[in-house]
Amino acid sequence: MRIEGEESLVLRGALPRPASSVDFRMYLAGLLESVTGRGGTVVRFRPEDSRDLADLAARHDLLVVAAGRAELQDVFPRDPARSPFRTAPRILAGGLFQGIAPPDPPGMTMNMIPGVGEIHAPTFHSFGGRVTAVLIEAVPGMAFQTVTQPEHRVDPELFAKRVLDLVTTHAPSLRERIDDKEFGLTRPIDVMHGALVPTVRRGWAEMGEGHALAIGDAWIVNDPLTAQGANLGSAQAFQVAQALASHQGAYNADFCKTLSEQLWATAQPVVDWTNMFLGAPAPQVQSLLTVAAGDQRVADAFIANLDDPPAMWHSISRPEHTAAFIEAAQSTRSEQ
Ligand SMILES: Cc1cc2nc3c(=O)[nH]c(=O)nc-3n(C[C@H](O)[C@H](O)[C@H](O)COP(=O)(O)OP(=O)(O)OC[C@H]3O[C@@H](n4cnc5c(N)ncnc54)[C@H](O)[C@@H]3O)c2cc1C
Repeated sequence: MRIEGEESLVLRGALPRPASSVDFRMYLAGLLESVTGRGGTVVRFRPEDSRDLADLAARHDLLVVAAGRAELQDVFPRDPARSPFRTAPRILAGGLFQGIAPPDPPGMTMNMIPGVGEIHAPTFHSFGGRVTAVLIEAVPGMAFQTVTQPEHRVDPELFAKRVLDLVTTHAPSLRERIDDKEFGLTRPIDVMHGALVPTVRRGWAEMGEGHALAIGDAWIVNDPLTAQGANLGSAQAFQVAQALASHQGAYNADFCKTLSEQLWATAQPVVDWTNMFLGAPAPQVQSLLTVAAGDQRVADAFIANLDDPPAMWHSISRPEHTAAFIEAAQSTRSEQ
């Protein structure tokens, strides 16, 4: 991770367990096959059928909506108390690229320029095998917006050139891994442009005679800055499965309300952490990153928390928590 500022900070941390990034176009298809292989039934339910949701809910013990950021979201109104953004805090542009050597040791890199944007570059498993995803997060109106122009959809070479220019200026260690002759989008379609308004919706709804529960992006959309959205959706799915299995009685409004609040306890640290990172760096985060850049024990403890949102949020939410986190990382690790 490199943070540009008056003085640039570079920190490298080790995850306790290996991580991987997989193309959802492959992964979700694999999951559907797994569902059918285990006796589930996959039925295509088109958005225009959403008037029939109440009917669907009435015919099942519980309707769980995991349709992503799709039309079915309208069933769950925005929760203003948990949704501080009205517009997208970042414009996103990304692509899958060949011609970038993986980092050594393997992992992902992130360059942050406060007030301007971020460049993420995880190694990514896609149709062409192991490639590199480059995601640019541009603060609206600032320099990174050069790569978020809509004409890139029809001109992938221009997009690749502008990404290369940006990386050359702002991500020197990523630039060193690029072979100019090989560099380019893996396929013209392996490119995305967009913007998300981080939003938390009401987690459940009465549907005539039945009930619907929202999970994943249908319930909460986070900016991808902290790379937590799918991870949170999957954590929620396991939590819902456990609650469904252990509950005695009807999956009624009380069940949905209680479960939705339990799910919020899991989600809130992710939402708060992500929303905090979208703003100007909090002083305690700045000091944490500064200490981590010079102390491997703190860097490792900070990076390990990417996989533990409650611990991450606790460590950065208040200056005194951050001070205690740094002290704990320095003392426990030096005893080993
Ligand atoms: C650029 C970018 C980078 C990201 N990077 C990361 C990352 O590194 N790590 C991370 O954890 N998260 C990341 N995320 C977030 C992650 O992609 C989402 O949080 C995650 O995909 C949400 O999963 P989901 O299953 O709720 O919704 P989706 O992934 O959107 O899946 C919903 C599925 O439902 C289907 N569907 C929609 N409507 C219907 C319907 N009416 N009937 C039947 N099916 C329907 C859709 O076709 C789709 O397959 C990123 C997001 C973006 C935009």
